[in-house]
Amino acid sequence: MLIVMQENASEDKIKNVVNFIKEKGFDAHISKGAEHTVIGAVGKNITDKRDIELLDGVKEVIRISSPYKLVSRTFKEEDTIIDVNGVKFGGGHIGMIAGPCTVESYEQMEITAQKLSECGVRCLRGGAFKPRTSPYSFQGLGEEGLKILREVADKYNMIVTSEVMEVAQIPMFLKYVDILQVGARNMQNFNLLKSLGEIRKPVLLKRGLSATIEELLMSAEYIMSGGNREIILCERGIRTFERMTRNTLDISAIPVVQKISHLPIVVDPSHATGLRDKVAPMSKAAVAAGADGLIIEVHHSPETALCDGAQSLYPEQFKDLFQELKALAAIIKKEF
Ligand code: PEP
Ligand code: MN
Repeated sequence: MLIVMQENASEDKIKNVVNFIKEKGFDAHISKGAEHTVIGAVGKNITDKRDIELLDGVKEVIRISSPYKLVSRTFKEEDTIIDVNGVKFGGGHIGMIAGPCTVESYEQMEITAQKLSECGVRCLRGGAFKPRTSPYSFQGLGEEGLKILREVADKYNMIVTSEVMEVAQIPMFLKYVDILQVGARNMQNFNLLKSLGEIRKPVLLKRGLSATIEELLMSAEYIMSGGNREIILCERGIRTFERMTRNTLDISAIPVVQKISHLPIVVDPSHATGLRDKVAPMSKAAVAAGADGLIIEVHHSPETALCDGAQSLYPEQFKDLFQELKALAAIIKKEF
């Protein structure tokens, strides 16, 4: 931390700040400039910088070391590749996850999985516990949904991801899914994150509706500090003043995250835009910007879908899009 003192701050005020940070366990290094005295606080302790900002004579406090450690490239320089039964995310591999918003029935999942696996998709998605805005909306089939997901995936040699909503559900999820999804609304459910740190299965961590990139990385740090190193981040759009799309896809999050973190980042163009016709262009933009994967909603009959039909692609649309994405990936020397 660098503490910049106000112009001509008195010796007493400087001494007071030095004593304060020493009490917090930091070493103090003083540098006297022509106008400002700067105090370098060096140490491993974590302190709330506002406590220092409030001290008499302090102009500003600049944090230098990043709050995330294990997820940063300083800790691990090379890209982390998450390999789930051969489906790879990161390090030049683009993982494709597709499927309906919600598991509705065996028949629905069977039709979808068959069509998707024909296109070469190896990771199936489908919510069984749904975080719906309204308590009157379809809440998902629960464990029955997870069973269907597993059964259908096994039939087509696919892996599955589904959203886990609370700590108590984790043992159940471990029985059925290959990747545990943390939804946007749970990105800062710290108890859930801590518990997911204790398991040894990959976690797909979605960015919160109004979370900064730093907050997303701090949530990943929660999981990683528990010992679970298999984390896939997901940019799924953030809430802005714009109303033409459901959310605003923050494409720049991809290179920003990739510069500071070794973890793969995938993009969810379906929840980001909320509109079927915007999914293809945003998927292409994500791949072009270097995304390590995509998670796309596909439904065999979007008109009758119980959830998010308007943003779900028809299987034929998905098929064409996947072809185009593969060609695009080749240009940037990556592969699905
Ligand atoms: C989902 O992927 O099913 C979902 C609910 O997405 P999000 O948490 O990003 O809203
Ligand atoms: Mn959905």
